Amino acid sequence: MHSIQNWLSETPKYTTFRINKLKGTDLEKLTKFLTEQNEELNAPEIPKFYFLKPDCLILEQWMLEPAIATSGKEVIVDALCAAAVLRGAHVFAPGVLGLLSDCKMNDKVDIYGDLEGKCKRGLKIPYTGRKRFVGVGYLKMLRCDLFDKGVQPSGIAVHTILPESRLPVVNETLFPKGEVLLQNLPSIVTGWVVNALPNENILDMCAAPGNKTTHLAEMSDNKAHIIALDKTEYKVKKIKQNCESHGITCVEAFSFDSTMCYSEDHFGEISKPPFPRNCFDKVLLDAPCSGLGQRPQLVSKMDPKTIDSYKYLQRKLFTTALKVLKTGGKLIYSTCTVTLDENEGMVLWALEKFPCLKLVPAEPLLGGPGLDNVGLSNEQRMMVQRFGPENDSLRPTEDIYKNTIGFFIAIFTKIHDIDNHNIQK
Ligand code: SAM
Repeated sequence: MHSIQNWLSETPKYTTFRINKLKGTDLEKLTKFLTEQNEELNAPEIPKFYFLKPDCLILEQWMLEPAIATSGKEVIVDALCAAAVLRGAHVFAPGVLGLLSDCKMNDKVDIYGDLEGKCKRGLKIPYTGRKRFVGVGYLKMLRCDLFDKGVQPSGIAVHTILPESRLPVVNETLFPKGEVLLQNLPSIVTGWVVNALPNENILDMCAAPGNKTTHLAEMSDNKAHIIALDKTEYKVKKIKQNCESHGITCVEAFSFDSTMCYSEDHFGEISKPPFPRNCFDKVLLDAPCSGLGQRPQLVSKMDPKTIDSYKYLQRKLFTTALKVLKTGGKLIYSTCTVTLDENEGMVLWALEKFPCLKLVPAEPLLGGPGLDNVGLSNEQRMMVQRFGPENDSLRPTEDIYKNTIGFFIAIFTKIHDIDNHNIQK
């Protein structure tokens, strides 16, 4: 069986883009771009791309034989940058740690990720620590640009030609602003699960940078009433910018701590936080989490105490979500992590603590069922979706939904008002 660690260290086998249905997009540009790249790579054909749904474009890997020719000239980048390269990104200057001293502008270079976090910035000889080859590219900055100026450098340092994962190097900038968004498949599925409809009052509690908020707005044809909150002010600016570039006008974004977005003394208006009880048709809690579903994970640095701490914040946010949700409304809970505590464990905690809640199927059910280790019944496990490597006969999962990041989605409905005993806690 595929261990979760192995699975997490591998790169998803395709790239997903969300298409903004308010704008649409022209895929001729993508064909032209890949054809130009193919002149350099000399592959038998350009990578396949297709619509999984009208708002979800899948781009597959290059089919290349033989493997990429390396150059012997090494660039060392940090692990986060290396993971981004594997997913089809260029190397940005802040991620570069080491570059051989004889490298010249536009040299073909081999990109390696530092797996131990021990490479000193500015290294000029080959790195002897643990490293992983992640791709080849052309050097666009010299050592003097990267290390000698005394300020944090910016811009593309290596123009990636081909990642080791063979994913095409395509990003949103190929398309006119706001038409297309690079987004992981389970995040797109979350939008489908929320299924925002015109005139619904929707709260997106932890919304920045607004990737799901914009999806909800687009799904509703810009006609739902969406409030997007995030605790961090500069990130809220990003939500506003994203809405603007996507042509969205139905979202109001505020910087606010969502654990406090309910106020007992507040009645009536819901145009800004804090909100009264029972006022939203749907609440999306895309919770801050340990993020351990990200792939590829080249190193795992988080200590168990930090991982364990997330569930307390998630519970607080969940409790507040429930207060502002209408009776009959839906609370959609999601995380991009794989821990039981933050996923199935949260579902179990919520159902035990709030008798007013009912778990309902998080449709469309495209990921696998929940895991059985924490005490959910098979029926409950079948109502949630876990994106991961597990094979479960309860609900076989299509390959495309396995070859993605680790993620979890559950939906609850509030069948009667939360009782005062629970409100005070
Ligand atoms: N939903 C977002 C999207 O799809 O673009 C991603 C959200 S990210 C998983 C979690 C977000 O929660 C972070 O932007 C973080 O700033 C925010 N956050 C953390 N604690 C919060 C709190 N108490 N109230 C509001 N937002 C919070």
